Amino acid sequence: MKKLQNFINGVYCPPASGKYFDNYDPSTGEVYSLIPHSDCEDVSCAVSAAEAAYPIWSAMSVEERSRILIRLSVGIETRMEEFVAAESRDNGKPLSLAAQVDIPRAISNFHFFATAILHFASESHYMEGVGVNYTTRKPIGIVGCISPWNLPLYLFSWKIAPALAAGNCVIAKPSEVTPYTAYLLGKVAQEAGMPQGVLNILHGMGAQVGDAIVRHPKIKAISFTGGTKTGEYIAQTAGPMFKKLSLELGGKNANIIFADCDFDEMLSTTMRSSFANQGQICLCGSRIFIERPLYKRFKQAFVEKVSRLKVSFPADPEAKLGAVVSKPHMEKILSYIALAKEEGGTVLTGGHRVLLKPPYENGYYVAPTIIEGLEYTCRTNQEEIFGPVVTITPFDTEEEALKMANSTEYGLAGTVWTSNLKRAHRVADNLQAGIVWVNAWLVRDLRTPFGGMKSSGIGREGGWEGLRFFTEAKNIFIKS
Ligand code: NAD
Repeated sequence: MKKLQNFINGVYCPPASGKYFDNYDPSTGEVYSLIPHSDCEDVSCAVSAAEAAYPIWSAMSVEERSRILIRLSVGIETRMEEFVAAESRDNGKPLSLAAQVDIPRAISNFHFFATAILHFASESHYMEGVGVNYTTRKPIGIVGCISPWNLPLYLFSWKIAPALAAGNCVIAKPSEVTPYTAYLLGKVAQEAGMPQGVLNILHGMGAQVGDAIVRHPKIKAISFTGGTKTGEYIAQTAGPMFKKLSLELGGKNANIIFADCDFDEMLSTTMRSSFANQGQICLCGSRIFIERPLYKRFKQAFVEKVSRLKVSFPADPEAKLGAVVSKPHMEKILSYIALAKEEGGTVLTGGHRVLLKPPYENGYYVAPTIIEGLEYTCRTNQEEIFGPVVTITPFDTEEEALKMANSTEYGLAGTVWTSNLKRAHRVADNLQAGIVWVNAWLVRDLRTPFGGMKSSGIGREGGWEGLRFFTEAKNIFIKS
């Protein structure tokens, strides 16, 4: 059985504990590799390596850092097939999705920040007759990057690329549910000529190695993406240590559809915004609100299309949905479907586990599910399910749609479908969300601020925001 290794000080090494735990293939439900059970000893080791590397990396010219990061991006591209296969196997997502979205985006993340750092500038503020202020932005030092399982390498690289570009040394931890592509990244970093100790990748459980990263006094900033409860815990731990914190947390996004929208475009995009990656994207629109005159037509067409989506093993080229990420996650999704029924909802399609033929009979497959007839305030409509489950609800007025959309504790993203320009601006402006798409979904420009309000997080990633987070600003005033 393949044993994954930590990547510390530029080399692969076993965990200090010598212990490992199982890594499951969600498509079959079988263990296929072993994950290092790292703890605070591995974190200490990685911090020592990062401390030694920091003077070298932070003093390197931005051009040189940029060249190394570009080589990293090219290195992933060169090993595209290996990364795509690993991501799909580890996560359960269709191979086609990993090939079209996950791995290309990880490549872009490194390339984007490798070039962005060349154009990153700090401000100066001139005070007439008094003097001038100029602001320097230096790397923070050693930073921690902790990522989730839904878009494994995509979100891992979204954090470590700006951190490295800005001149920090990184202690990174991928999700223990999907560690494989982060494990492969070590080799690419070696080949790219990344100095040893600059990027350290530790595997293991959140409560052990993740917690040790958050608590380590020499790790000065934490960039975290994951669940709101975990974010709350991290904030409680890191807050009193005055660490810089970026928290990208859960969501329960609204998809608001007005009767005057372009129906065909809305329908095909809503299929994706509901079920892409088995609904396991923090930006998926799981609550769909439809203006009443369109409700019947939408319901009929949506149910008909969704019931034809093929749920299959990830390597099936016809698979529209693959496996969900783990057995506990599948059980959580199914328990929410049961809850929805208890709360008075009607399952219009799906609502059950899908059993495939051997060798996939123990895989974690859930049919794409549409539920109607629920109050917008019920738990199914308020809590994050993070699976292929959406609810549909009619509305009569714009105010009512906004009231329902804004009723959750979350505020990550939202989608609005209308051909009325004024309404588009108005509704987008009043949606309590950090990201809003009008007549579109998941169009991403890496320069834009990315993140949520309310319980969906603190801070923003992306573009200058990401580079600002990973640098410390100092203002210097000189009297004229
Ligand atoms: P999770 O919170 O369980 O785990 C995320 C990461 O944190 C993992 O690497 C985990 O090992 C680690 N972790 C867990 N406990 C920890 C602790 N006590 N200290 C330090 N690290 C700890 O989340 P998940 O189940 O992996 O991911 C799903 C969640 O992520 C969903 O809520 C989803 O909405 C959210 N998400 C948010 C965004 C966003 O951009 N806002 C993007 C993707 C996913």
